Amino acid sequence: MFRIKVPRYWRHKDFRYRLNAWKCNHCGEVHFFKPLVCRRCRLREFNKVMLPETGKLIAYTIVRSPPCGFEEQTPYIIGFIELEDGTRILSQITDCYPEELKLGMKVEVTFRRVREDDPDKIIAYGYKFRPAI
Ligand SMILES: [Zn+2]
Repeated sequence: MFRIKVPRYWRHKDFRYRLNAWKCNHCGEVHFFKPLVCRRCRLREFNKVMLPETGKLIAYTIVRSPPCGFEEQTPYIIGFIELEDGTRILSQITDCYPEELKLGMKVEVTFRRVREDDPDKIIAYGYKFRPAI
């Protein structure tokens, strides 16, 4: 049975709630969760940065066979987004139908319910993207 691991989800709340990430002071690589060492240059100094809240849609797919915990949302759209600073991120796309999507269209971040753990009724929130208004 699917269970949300609350401590881990909570530790990542800065990224999931506010798109705060960690940028390597040496090479500029962006990490979504604070790493011990940079995956590119192996150094250990990072600055917390806020990623841009807008970007463009560069690819998407419609999920009809979801992973555990996402069955109630099926079908849903997963987009590959390039943020204004060039960082690329995967995200669920919300507030639109698939036929409204166009590659290259501008999208913006929004804060939504991501999933719910049934036995404990724990609701996980986080970022999703939607067509820019
Ligand atoms: Zn680095």
